[in-house]
Amino acid sequence: MSIATIDPTNGQVLKTFDEMTDQQLEAALTRAADGFARLRTTGFAERARWMTAAADLLDAERDDVARTMTTEMGKTYASAKAEVVKCAAACRYYAAHAEGFLADEPADAAAVGATRAYGRYQPMGPVLAVMPWNFPLWQVMRFAAPALMAGNVGLLKHASNVPQTALYLDELFRRAGFPAGAFQTLLIGSAQVDRVLADPRVRAATLTGSEGAGRSIGASAGRYLKKTVLELGGSDPFVVMPSADVEQAAEVATVARCQNNGQSCIAAKRFIVHADVYDAFADAFVARMAALTVGDPMADGTDIGPLATERGRAEVEEQVRDAADKGASVLCGGQRPDRAGWWYPPTVVADLTPEMRMYAEEVFGPVAGLYRVSSYEEAIALANGTNYGLGSNAWTRDPAEQERFVADLDAGLVFINGMTTSYPELPFGGVRNSGYGRELSAQGIREFCDLKAVWIG
Ligand code: NAP
Repeated sequence: MSIATIDPTNGQVLKTFDEMTDQQLEAALTRAADGFARLRTTGFAERARWMTAAADLLDAERDDVARTMTTEMGKTYASAKAEVVKCAAACRYYAAHAEGFLADEPADAAAVGATRAYGRYQPMGPVLAVMPWNFPLWQVMRFAAPALMAGNVGLLKHASNVPQTALYLDELFRRAGFPAGAFQTLLIGSAQVDRVLADPRVRAATLTGSEGAGRSIGASAGRYLKKTVLELGGSDPFVVMPSADVEQAAEVATVARCQNNGQSCIAAKRFIVHADVYDAFADAFVARMAALTVGDPMADGTDIGPLATERGRAEVEEQVRDAADKGASVLCGGQRPDRAGWWYPPTVVADLTPEMRMYAEEVFGPVAGLYRVSSYEEAIALANGTNYGLGSNAWTRDPAEQERFVADLDAGLVFINGMTTSYPELPFGGVRNSGYGRELSAQGIREFCDLKAVWIG
């Protein structure tokens, strides 16, 4: 795919970018190594000052950055502005907490015959970040804020359809005061990623993206013995049990499925509802989905803009068509409108069976699968019944049942009676084919640190 900004509301190519030449890439890698030599000798206080300056820039430039994101990938302007604010908050969070998270870990010195013994976290070096377009600022920031605060440097290979957001990030950290080479955007295609990973100056990689990209980058990283964190896809269950507040669950379900035009890794995608409340939930949910406003993502009052890419829209359309052809019921939506751009309406599909693609695959658009179950055991079996394990959601007011869901849902995140969301304070990541490693919280900043054992006699 060439690197370009394409307006998803009408398919118009707005701006194209040349890929970096081999010489430019080599110069960037040299700058990264030099930048690391500089950054690793700075202290937390200095890095916190720069990170706070980055947060201030984001706040001051919120509207412009948000407009760029909406133009490049179609999210609503309101949600783009919220994303910028969330990024500024994450910068401030790591500015405040990095030093504490990476404090020396005391060990029992007497037990190892030392006068002092402890573990010390040290930055690894240049880290390659391969990122997706769906939250084009946030996905990068939740890597960059902890990584730079730890003293690592970042090399960003962003998705090919968000180059202007990627270039904004390239300038942001420099303008905030970080040394040259501390954070750089590499305008390269995915075919060049292997070469960057192979370079001995690059010490590790993080990918947020699809399962396929995860397999490819994981394989390369294995070949070159580089550490990786992989944040991959998901098909999150949203389970509604008889004791749930059904109206509230339906309200949250609508947002959870359709946030970011339905293109979120932790969007609820499979709605697993107990038979006792199935009809009430289905009626409330379908009515809300059908009432959402699809339209110009820049306009106030729009709930859903276009999907980000033509290929993504074709995939969603194909998954729904496959289910309908095999006997599923389409309760609302299901037909793309006859207009330019990558539009797809909010859609609810019921009566899904295992031979339909939607049953096991991630659907990356505003399409919900609705399932009826008659027991807790059946709900858990279905919830855990894909190869994914990213987020999960359960609705029940029964405390004992809440505990069972926490224990039994095979996922990296479990949210009870509220929408699955990422917070700087909580670890974020998946199990099984949703990836490994964690971002955010103390765990996230430690992923790209070496823990050195220190023994002093
Ligand atoms: P994608 O096609 O995997 O692309 C993500 C990034 O990986 C892009 O920068 C892409 O570059 C690059 N890439 C793709 N294939 C590659 C390969 N073989 N080698 C090296 N780099 C490669 O994913 P997407 O369709 O843009 O994003 C949607 C997916 O991301 C969904 O599955 C979603 O669930 C997942 N996601 C996961 C999380 C999480 O935190 N777990 C968060 C957000 C999204 P190009 O753009 O140049 O192809």
